[in-house]
Amino acid sequence: MMELRGLSKSYDGRSAIADLSLRVEDDEYLTLLGPSGSGKTTLLRLVAGLDLPEHGRISLNGQDITALPTYRRGLGFVQQNYALFPHMSVADNIAFGLRNRVESPVSDEQEVERRVAAMMDLVGLQGLGNRMVGQISGGQKQRVSLARTLITEPKVCLLDEPLGALDANLRERMTVELRNIRQSLGVTFFHVTGNESEALAMGDRMIVLDEGRAIQVAPPDEIFDRPATVRVAKFVNSYNILEGGVTDGVFVCGDLRLPVPDGGADTRYIAVRYDTPSFEAEGTDGAAGQAGLTATFLTSEFMGSRVVYFFRSEAGTVFEVERHLSRSDPETFTGGDRKRLGWPVSETLFFDGNGDRLVVTHARGAA
Ligand code: ADP
Ligand code: MG
Repeated sequence: MMELRGLSKSYDGRSAIADLSLRVEDDEYLTLLGPSGSGKTTLLRLVAGLDLPEHGRISLNGQDITALPTYRRGLGFVQQNYALFPHMSVADNIAFGLRNRVESPVSDEQEVERRVAAMMDLVGLQGLGNRMVGQISGGQKQRVSLARTLITEPKVCLLDEPLGALDANLRERMTVELRNIRQSLGVTFFHVTGNESEALAMGDRMIVLDEGRAIQVAPPDEIFDRPATVRVAKFVNSYNILEGGVTDGVFVCGDLRLPVPDGGADTRYIAVRYDTPSFEAEGTDGAAGQAGLTATFLTSEFMGSRVVYFFRSEAGTVFEVERHLSRSDPETFTGGDRKRLGWPVSETLFFDGNGDRLVVTHARGAA
């Protein structure tokens, strides 16, 4: 088990990691989601020992490793830009860490060869051992980078945006493979990414990092269904966020009139998932327990398995509606079409003026 307690690090007086505490369990896939500049790389560098924190401690299995040099931590680090040796073959790149590590280097060449071959099998690089690094694709470089780290049998493997340079197709495939590789080795992965679908798909647990602070730590489905703050809801990129105010128990934004449930009196923002609203004719009155707003169709985007429709609300904000094509045929709208977008009040999330989610109780019998 690895524990980070109250870690802080700043550059030129500007905080990059602020009072961050976290437990990383054994044999766990932990993902960290944060936008660019939120401190992801800084955090990994602290954990790896490439930088020292100004405050806080890092311990690994009960041992304080805060000041321990990198090579004695027993951690692996797959860096953002691969950092491969261009003048070496794939096999030599993978063997490098094994031959040259400070603690128990492997000098028996037959043993090195055997382990390199096994690792190349595991990450899907069979038959490419003699290629030079310049002669393989981006996806293959990523695999070499992973293999050369995993071959040293780290207790915890840090991965800095490992799929960032891959195209969408390959990224999806590697997502599954990374999970399988991790499971077969039983090693802990600490995977940081700026991509919300990657973070949601990969991990057993997820951390959301915002300006150097961990703003939510929970299983991915919980972060997705119950984001703790408006900013988390924005990062998971699945919610329309509307800003307004409550008057006489009703949240008002443009022509939306949404009766707030118990506990929602301080609502300043609401969030509605892209895949929740249904399309209704303009002017339709919502049934009990339903909310809705009038919106003007702008454009749609075909995304393979789903379609995203973009509308403009009366309040002037863009409102997205997503349809999975496995569940329905695509709708056709013309630019300027006006629709009512309706959804159950019970599927709405409520946030106060600080952006913190309010715990609300829906009246019994509400849809
Ligand atoms: P991320 O990996 O999430 O994109 P980083 O950890 O690289 O973010 O950076 C976090 C913040 O710290 C940013 O504002 C960045 O500009 C700053 N920063 C990172 N490394 C350095 C450095 N070596 N010197 C000065 N500022 C840095
Ligand atoms: Mg980074």
